[in-house]
Amino acid sequence: MPVEDALAQLLALAEAAPIQETENVSLADAEGRVLARDLVASLDLPPWPNSAMDGYALRLADWQGEPLPVSQRIFAGHAPQPLQPGTCARIFTGAPVPAGADCVEMQENAEVADDGRVRFLEPLKVDQNIRPQGQETRQGEQVMSAGTRLGPIELGLAATLGQARLDVVRKVRVAVLSTGDELIEPGLPLGPGQIYNSNRRLLVSWLQRLGCEVRDAGILPDDLARTRECLAALGDVDLILSTGGVSVGEADYLGAALREAGELALWKLAIKPGKPLTFGHFRGVPVIGLPGNPASTLVTFGLLTRPYLLRRQGVADVTPLRFDMPAGFDWPKPGTRREYLRARIEQGQVRIYKNQSSGVLRSAAWAEGLVEVREGSTPKQGDSVPFIPFSELLG
Ligand code: AMP
Ligand code: MG
Repeated sequence: MPVEDALAQLLALAEAAPIQETENVSLADAEGRVLARDLVASLDLPPWPNSAMDGYALRLADWQGEPLPVSQRIFAGHAPQPLQPGTCARIFTGAPVPAGADCVEMQENAEVADDGRVRFLEPLKVDQNIRPQGQETRQGEQVMSAGTRLGPIELGLAATLGQARLDVVRKVRVAVLSTGDELIEPGLPLGPGQIYNSNRRLLVSWLQRLGCEVRDAGILPDDLARTRECLAALGDVDLILSTGGVSVGEADYLGAALREAGELALWKLAIKPGKPLTFGHFRGVPVIGLPGNPASTLVTFGLLTRPYLLRRQGVADVTPLRFDMPAGFDWPKPGTRREYLRARIEQGQVRIYKNQSSGVLRSAAWAEGLVEVREGSTPKQGDSVPFIPFSELLG
């Protein structure tokens, strides 16, 4: 199955099971959440015309070449008097332009005489250095649409509109399972044949960054009865996310449990790393089974599961930004799967980590992102290749 087909199917499944509950949270608690309702401006921005400069406000028609007396000083945060005809007002950046003034000149182009009168040294124009009312936003305008992910910029924007609270989609609840008899948690001594569980930490941290509520279900041994029990005990979650136990030839306990109590699709994805992927339901709860090799987990989570989770929350734009960059490597052997190589940018070129094995997480720690090499393509040094920065996938 081509990667884009798998993604399209997962997104369709996500749209069929949207998180519908919403919460009203303070801006302080809204970081990383998804806006549940369109945000409409309740005021004009700016609310009144204001000065873009420190300088002098005047009525252009009053300036005939004779210096003007200063009739008031207007600081930001203070209400001005209407401008007296034949005078100018000292004004500071962000202060309201007084009624009757139609022009602000910056102080650098003004000369103050000993008697305090002001002469303007450059030609003046109506409206110069004035930020008009409603220039940024008009009351009633839609400023953000439902499905927008709220980061520092969006929260800042909501604050400019005086919004203290926002309606957001409730967090997605994800249960994380690591499967494998060989797994043991960091901090314990390694027994024979054991390896440390890295996927658990990788996924739990990543899910938290994505604003999910994580139920960490620990390590599940390769055993059907225990798998059944564990799945049944997970409780009320929106997604069960497991790793391991989906490789060809392995006793597939997760698959067996899903076959008994739900439905199951086993996908062979044209993706490398990360060919096998399970999608199913356990008692109505969607289940995604990612391959166990850490680099496979990373790639299939980042490219397929992340967009699925965002779409469940109604996020419209789930496609990570990618940039075309010159390849700093040769890829002579065309593949039958789309490869995502762990890569970084050095001197304007994309370099790839020497060991691209799916078991090697160090490759990703060295890297700054993924280079996509499409099926059948053989990019050479200097050819343009798409680069997806990890920063796009992690947040
Ligand atoms: P599996 O899909 O269960 O056959 O696992 C594929 C490979 O990934 C095997 O080498 C596993 O030992 C390894 N693996 C599976 N789960 C994890 C995990 N949570 N952390 C680190 N390695 C894992
Ligand atoms: Mg396993």
